[in-house]
Amino acid sequence: MAKAYLSIGTNLGDKRGNLLTATALLKERVGDMLALSTIYETEPWGFESQHTFFNAALILETALSPMELLDVTRLIETEMGRINKSDGSYQDRIIDIDILLYDDLILQTDRLTLPHPLMHKRTFVMEPLAEIAPDVVHPLLHKPMIQLRSILSE
Ligand code: ADP
Ligand code: MG
Repeated sequence: MAKAYLSIGTNLGDKRGNLLTATALLKERVGDMLALSTIYETEPWGFESQHTFFNAALILETALSPMELLDVTRLIETEMGRINKSDGSYQDRIIDIDILLYDDLILQTDRLTLPHPLMHKRTFVMEPLAEIAPDVVHPLLHKPMIQLRSILSE
């Protein structure tokens, strides 16, 4: 069994409901939920929108491989009605599920990079993650999440 650390976010529709639906589907298809952060409300990052984001982080215990986990999270995004723009720009979304960490695995493929390459730069990721995994050490930066989070707010 591995521990997968995920970030979930939404800025459209019933945002609290979207996060609840996503966590319910993740528990069903990925594995037991070991922790769930509180919900953080944040301003859109990387693009202009009038819709604020609701973000949270969670830890799941899973028997899935990293690629299987990515397939499951992409399918949940699609089923929940996420529409992707082909140009890859940031945009409003019903649900975004990102894989932050998979144990202390370091991986770089076309489809999946672990740890998530931007996690430590984003307050909306690090705030909820530091709440549920303060002592977990970033496998490339060799610093605990609580410290990476506090660096961001300096
Ligand atoms: P973003 O999350 O940056 O807004 P998307 O959710 O559309 O963008 O993801 C774009 C692509 O990022 C996905 O097709 C996925 O294959 C890839 N990707 C690479 N590493 C990861 C990761 N750690 N977690 C989730 N997606 C990833
Ligand atoms: Mg994503």
